[in-house]
Amino acid sequence: MTTVALGVPTMPSSASIEDRPDVGELVDRFGRVARDLRVSITEKCSLRCTYCMPEDGLPAIPTQNLLTADEIVRLVDIAVHRLGVREVRFTGGEPLMRPDLEQMIAGCAERAPGVPLAMTTNAIGLEHRAHKLVEAGLSRINISLDSIDREHFARLTRRDRLPSVIAGIRAAAEAGLGPLKINAVLMPEMLGGAADLLEWCLNEGVALRFIEEMPLDADHEWARENMVTADRLLAVLGERFTLSEHGRQDPSAPAEEWLVDGGPATVGVIASVTRSFCSDCDRTRLTAEGTVRSCLFSDREIDLRAALRGGADDEELARLWRGAMWNKWAGHGINADGFAPPQRSMGAIGG
Ligand code: SAM
Ligand code: SF4
Repeated sequence: MTTVALGVPTMPSSASIEDRPDVGELVDRFGRVARDLRVSITEKCSLRCTYCMPEDGLPAIPTQNLLTADEIVRLVDIAVHRLGVREVRFTGGEPLMRPDLEQMIAGCAERAPGVPLAMTTNAIGLEHRAHKLVEAGLSRINISLDSIDREHFARLTRRDRLPSVIAGIRAAAEAGLGPLKINAVLMPEMLGGAADLLEWCLNEGVALRFIEEMPLDADHEWARENMVTADRLLAVLGERFTLSEHGRQDPSAPAEEWLVDGGPATVGVIASVTRSFCSDCDRTRLTAEGTVRSCLFSDREIDLRAALRGGADDEELARLWRGAMWNKWAGHGINADGFAPPQRSMGAIGG
């Protein structure tokens, strides 16, 4: 199989499953192999970030449609042992909204020992659970924080919860989940505070990565002409810090790193829109309802939950998952004429 140059907008088309090489891993027709599994476990959230959620939250998923902890553990087991997945990350919605998160992580740690189990979270309530999560087997954490100014934070997230996020960040570090990564989405209204946020992260000893906003907001208000680009951010940060290019630490890592004031501290930028890294994408996604999604931007999903509850064995579930990934698109196409955002928003897919 040859790897083609990607990163160009590519029209989605179906590839015949007959052409798929007979291998266990999650290969696609462009030669990529998915080894990084994102599992969304809920649509619920304690915040309402404007770039993600609608003001009233996402429509509730009926309980019977949500994967149970045991079902998630079984699918993670299949992903690791039959499909070559090497890292699992729990996300949402807000994963801490699920009271059975520790049980889920403990189950995955038991069935897939040695596989890093990570979580992306807004950290609200983490101060009370960080130790239990580590005991259950959580090994890494990314925390979202867009502003260190309380008023700004409240405006961006529609909730006045900054103190709780800070307490969660400190509790995570104290529980041994370091080195912590902080994610901040680039919005025009946070640009003025970006250097303050970086300074705060440097003082706390946590690594900050800025993410370009993608057209994945539930309110469909994203507009190319309003988005803050990586270049604009770097210019703003450059007014306070000396930044020197440090490259990507590994080719499939989405963040490009810059040394701050000569290092060793760095700041990362994930330029998902202006410097797309689709050609190196190694992700596969499982939604909270148990569908496989090969790309954030593709609404085509394959239902594993129905098969699982219908009595499919592990190999049948693995076969369905492989088929879903074989058809992965070449790229997200945000920069192409006629691009239309996907129906589901980031919080509904799992970021
Ligand atoms: N609630 C958790 C959190 O905020 O970390 C996990 C779910 S959230 C959907 C996962 C990540 O997606 C967060 O880092 C968030 O900032 C990012 N995200 C959400 N909407 C986005 C968008 N429109 N563009 C880029 N990143 C986005
Ligand atoms: Fe919630 Fe995370 Fe979306 Fe913010 S980005 S609304 S914290 S799911």
